[in-house]
Amino acid sequence: MNSGLYTLNREMAQSNTCTLKTTATQPVFGSGNRHAKVVFIGEAPGKHEDLAGEPFVGAAGKMLDQLLESIDLLRSDVYITNVVKYRPPNNRDPHRDEVRACWPWLLEEIHLVTPDLIIPLGRHALTRFIPDGKISAMHGTSFACEIPELSRYKYYALYHPAAALYNGSLRSVLFEDFSRIPQILSSKTATR
Ligand code: URA
Repeated sequence: MNSGLYTLNREMAQSNTCTLKTTATQPVFGSGNRHAKVVFIGEAPGKHEDLAGEPFVGAAGKMLDQLLESIDLLRSDVYITNVVKYRPPNNRDPHRDEVRACWPWLLEEIHLVTPDLIIPLGRHALTRFIPDGKISAMHGTSFACEIPELSRYKYYALYHPAAALYNGSLRSVLFEDFSRIPQILSSKTATR
């Protein structure tokens, strides 16, 4: 673990004012390669992640592993995290104040990893970076983020891996979009 990330996580666990702390088992920190070129960002931990203290370890995580494998990547090649660091009860959508409390910690995390490409997974994560973004229109496309602290990074939108579990027709779309990641990574400009 990047000593910066280690310190950040310790500080986060102590000082994050997110009220989900009171119901969650533990914080779920980002995991993976601290020097990763690609950072995947989900919305919030679910039950399995809450218990394990690791992001994407349940069914959606298994799908993410398959997707990574399809482009010859391992989890240890990338960095995986969530917008919200604690599990919302019954997997409800996080509330605005919960996202707001976790947001500065995510920003710090991103800056410490300094990836070449940030991939929000699913519509909830997408709209944190591009408020009126529609995942059905933007999946498989690169985009710019106008939030000043985040405008230096390149972005690529993907459906959430869980979407492919619930909707079989999205599976091939997700694999197809995923297959373009190496090309997006090597291109300097944002293209479809
Ligand atoms: N879904 C998410 O968005 N994040 C996780 O960590 C697990 C499932």
